[in-house]
Amino acid sequence: MLGLMQDWPLLCHRIIEHAAQIHGTQEIVTRSVEGPIHRTNYKNIRDRALKVSQRLDRDGIKLGDRVATIAWNTWRHLEAWYGIMGIGAICHTVNPRLFPEQIAWIVNHAQDRVLMTDLTFVPILEKIADKMPSIERYVVFTDKAHMPQTTLKNAVPYEDWIAQADGDFKWKTFEENTAAAMCYTSGTTGDPKGVLYSHRSNVLHALMANTGDSLGANAGDTMLPVVPLFHANSWGIAFSAPSMGTKLVFPGAKLDGASVFELLETEKVTHTAGVPTVWLMLLNHIAANHLKLPHLRFVVCGGSAMPRSMIKAFVDMGVTVRHAWGMTEMSPIGTLAALKPPFAELEGDARLDMLQTQGYPPFGVQMKITDDAGKELPWDGKTFGRLKVSGPAVSKAYFRIDANILDEDGYFDTGDVATIDGHGYMRITDRSKDVIKSGGEWISSIDLENLAVGHPAVAEAAVIGVHHPKWDERPLLIVQLKQGATATREDILKYMDGKIAKWWMPDDIVFVDGIPHTATGKILKTALRDQFKAYSFPNAAA
Ligand code: AMP
Repeated sequence: MLGLMQDWPLLCHRIIEHAAQIHGTQEIVTRSVEGPIHRTNYKNIRDRALKVSQRLDRDGIKLGDRVATIAWNTWRHLEAWYGIMGIGAICHTVNPRLFPEQIAWIVNHAQDRVLMTDLTFVPILEKIADKMPSIERYVVFTDKAHMPQTTLKNAVPYEDWIAQADGDFKWKTFEENTAAAMCYTSGTTGDPKGVLYSHRSNVLHALMANTGDSLGANAGDTMLPVVPLFHANSWGIAFSAPSMGTKLVFPGAKLDGASVFELLETEKVTHTAGVPTVWLMLLNHIAANHLKLPHLRFVVCGGSAMPRSMIKAFVDMGVTVRHAWGMTEMSPIGTLAALKPPFAELEGDARLDMLQTQGYPPFGVQMKITDDAGKELPWDGKTFGRLKVSGPAVSKAYFRIDANILDEDGYFDTGDVATIDGHGYMRITDRSKDVIKSGGEWISSIDLENLAVGHPAVAEAAVIGVHHPKWDERPLLIVQLKQGATATREDILKYMDGKIAKWWMPDDIVFVDGIPHTATGKILKTALRDQFKAYSFPNAAA
């Protein structure tokens, strides 16, 4: 027997429609790419998103067609986001930090028909446009006054382009499993892989993000997503914030510590979200200038492990830290480290220990850890295993790749190695390809990195496994010191000694001027392994 509830497909544009009706005057503030601060609200965003839909529809963009955006977080990008999805086309957010050839590869693989972009990226796109023949038109997120001379095909300023639509248009309706958005993983090896979100998965994911134990914001709050719309589905914030009527503050092209601080302060931002690199820049700016952020209450941090020293810095400012783990393939939320009973009352180091875990999953994400043969491992907080996940917002396949990516129980292997404790708190110990295999045992490169960055002279640290004749692999610690700071190999080893098992101690430390990063800000271990492939440990003669 079927239930007698309404057939109400979970479509993304219902979210912006709800925001416009119920929270219509709630503000969206942007540091525009042109410079000035721009203010609009959810009603205007909905009205102009409808014009985007109408204009795309008139250009012949149909259900299932891909429309790319290569753009910063701005109100125009949000309008385009909903306008594209509102006719059943697929909003393909492309990461501008990729190499130009990779951008062209991705656009070709996705067969995008229209490309919307910011002024910043026009010169890069001009250089690779001939490699992207599927693009019929470029729309530049600006007005006529700021539109540059460009060779881009059929290029038009966004404001002129939508002015040609009167907005007398209705969202299209279709089945909720229809594709809505697309994001390629920034794989460090092999070609990028396209993750294809559906309307249903995005709406369900927004509901997962909406609880206090998740992103933590409500209608009365102000959220500044430093995390870009092009990074892992904007961590769900572009859906979650409008669904609740949260005020949004977009940083545009300026993500340095001083610019982010200024917006956090002037817009009285209560909630913000971004990767550790961004928070490092912000905290350095705050410390160097003796500043305070009295309105900030909540910082979500994910994408890479959040160092303990960073968690402590925010906690000491009276800010709630929400360390989160997830991935593009998971829409992306996987787990969040909220302190549930009996941990809520913890203080001092014991509290930091829990905040530093990657946390537990919201309803809608199931996880397990297994050995290499697929056998489930215990949730004892100690045993490492391959972390696998399932849920309605987790990928079951990649775009245009005909391969099964699930195990026999329907779980997706995240490529991460983790422990899970009896309360469901997960701790990432490594990427499976980065874990150091020493004498048949595993050493977590992330744990060593987190420890090393706690040393006051260390700006950034990376650990890779280097071949060792006796142990197979041993950890090599690569350190970039803070500007003007000094520390020797012995100082850092002394600092680490006693805080980890003896056999986890790095066999050597090398100092570098800079550590390479991927386009999403993660340490690029493949490049480091390459750089140190000729390295051999001083003790390796054994
Ligand atoms: P992406 O799909 O680019 O967001 O990358 C996802 C990967 O980033 C995960 O599989 C993890 O390896 C890593 N990651 C994300 N969040 C965290 C975190 N909080 N701690 C450690 N690693 C993380």
